[in-house]
Amino acid sequence: MTPEAPTPDIQVVLIDLDDTLYPQSSFLEGATLAVGQRASELGLDHDQFVNAFRSVLARGSDTGHTIDTALVEIGCDADEVLRLTAPLVSAFLHFRPTSLECYPLVRESLATLATHATLVCLTDGQPDLQRAKFSSLGVATFFRALVITDELGGRALRKPATACLNRVSDMLSIPVRNFFVIGDRPDKDVALARFAGIGVIRVRQGEYRESPSPQGIVTVEDFPSAVEHLIKTYF
Ligand SMILES: [Mg+2]
Repeated sequence: MTPEAPTPDIQVVLIDLDDTLYPQSSFLEGATLAVGQRASELGLDHDQFVNAFRSVLARGSDTGHTIDTALVEIGCDADEVLRLTAPLVSAFLHFRPTSLECYPLVRESLATLATHATLVCLTDGQPDLQRAKFSSLGVATFFRALVITDELGGRALRKPATACLNRVSDMLSIPVRNFFVIGDRPDKDVALARFAGIGVIRVRQGEYRESPSPQGIVTVEDFPSAVEHLIKTYF
């Protein structure tokens, strides 16, 4: 009989932001309309641009070059793309959501989980924007910290680079082996945990919900289910 592996002593749960705590599509739609407004100020047809931009985002919102691709798709020539991209990217980056709503029962689950472990929100992205989303969700009270990988050393430190875990470890004086990850993306959250040799639960939500989970990865439908599983298994 094989002895069971000891249950890890989980002290810190790292929780992703976009598409884990709230639907990122709700943010993207507001940002799309803000960019559309700027596009019409710059002489473009609002609806034509917005429809093209929505369709580019639907093919992958963090692939880069989404705005210039939309401009090409509505028939802008190279000079126009060059002239229009910077102001439209600026409109996107300066868009601030007035209110974002968590997925159902996320606040209750965070409150429960926070009685068992220290919670850290770990997200990639433009720091001011990520901070604005986090603040708009009104969940800061449940977290010890919001860690934005881009602030630790630029895009190179985005998930699944594990350097962010060492920073959080130093900040909390808790070893990485006592960390656990909850997130939606196999290529970021799950890969991060696997590279670090720590546990992870994947929530199948949002833009990447159809991406397959790697074999053996606990995958649930939503954040409350992830918290329930985590508590039942480890606490
Ligand atoms: Mg995410």
